[in-house]
Amino acid sequence: MHYGIDVGGTKIEIAIYARDWQCLDRWREPTPADDGEALLALLAGMVREADRRDGGRGSLGLGFPGVLDEQGHLVAANLPGLRPFVLETALATHLDRDFIIENDSRCFVVSETGPGGAAEGVMHAFGAILGTGAGGGAMVDGRLLKGAGRFAGEWGHLPLPAAAAQHYDLPLLPCGCGLEACLEGYIAGPGLVRLHRHFGGRSASAEQWHQAWLAGEGAARRARECHLALLGGALANVVKLLSPQAIIIGGGLSAVDDLVMALPAAIGEHLFPGVEVPDVMRSRLGDASGVRGAAMLGAGMMTTA
Ligand SMILES: [Zn+2]
Repeated sequence: MHYGIDVGGTKIEIAIYARDWQCLDRWREPTPADDGEALLALLAGMVREADRRDGGRGSLGLGFPGVLDEQGHLVAANLPGLRPFVLETALATHLDRDFIIENDSRCFVVSETGPGGAAEGVMHAFGAILGTGAGGGAMVDGRLLKGAGRFAGEWGHLPLPAAAAQHYDLPLLPCGCGLEACLEGYIAGPGLVRLHRHFGGRSASAEQWHQAWLAGEGAARRARECHLALLGGALANVVKLLSPQAIIIGGGLSAVDDLVMALPAAIGEHLFPGVEVPDVMRSRLGDASGVRGAAMLGAGMMTTA
C-alpha cells in the first residue's frame, strides 16, 4: 500500500492507495497551523491510523504548501508554526519510516502525468495550478524537475511583463514572497478579481467575475482580455524554457471551461513561428492530485531530476 498526505493551510488529508492506485480510504483533519509540534504529532498519528486501517505498513509521501530549500527548511509557507523547524529532520524524529516530502504543486504534476492522470505517460509536462495562488511543477524526461534549490516550477513568481503592465496601466503590487509585481497576484483567482476591479468591476470572487463576463459586462471582458494576455505570456515563457508536450491546468480557475479553451491561442501569441503550442488540458484528478502525487513520490514511482 501507498500513503499520501497533503498538508494544507486549513486541513490535512491522508489517502491509502492500492498498488494499482485505486484509493482505498481517505480522511481529513484540521491543520494546527500555528503549532509545529502539534502538526508533527498529528501527522505521525495519521500514519499510525493508516497502518491500523490498512493492516500493514505503507510507503509514505507528504505534500506541503511552500518551498523546501536544499537543507529541508520550509520557506514561504502559510504555516507559521513550522518555520523554526528543519522540516525533514523534524518529521524524521516523529515518523517511523522513510518518506518523501515535496511541494504540493510539484505533487500535482506528478499525479497528473501518472496512471489515470490527464497527461498520463507524458514525459515532458508542466502542471500549472491557478487557485488562491499560482503554483507549478515540471516533468522533464518523465522525472520531476527539482533543480539545485528545490524550487523549480515557481512560475507564479516570475515578474509581470512590462509591456502588459503599461498597456493595461496595472499597479505594481507587493507579493507575499517579498518581491514586487509577481504574476501570481494578477493571474491566480484573487488576481482575476483584482483585474476586474481595476477595470471598474465589482466582483468579490472569480465566480462573480465569470458571471459578469457571461453577461457581457465591459469591465469583465477587459479583465478577461488582460488576464489571458498575462497568463498566455507566462505559460509561453514556460514553453520557451522547458518545451513541454502538455500543460495541465489545476486549481479553482481550471473549472472555467472557456478559460482553459482560450489558453492555447493566448499562449501561441507569445511564441515565435515554428514553435508548437503544447496540449493544454484540465486536471483530471482535481483536489485529489496533491495527495496522490505525494503518495506516488513516496512509492518511488517518479524519480526526481
Ligand atoms: Zn512572488
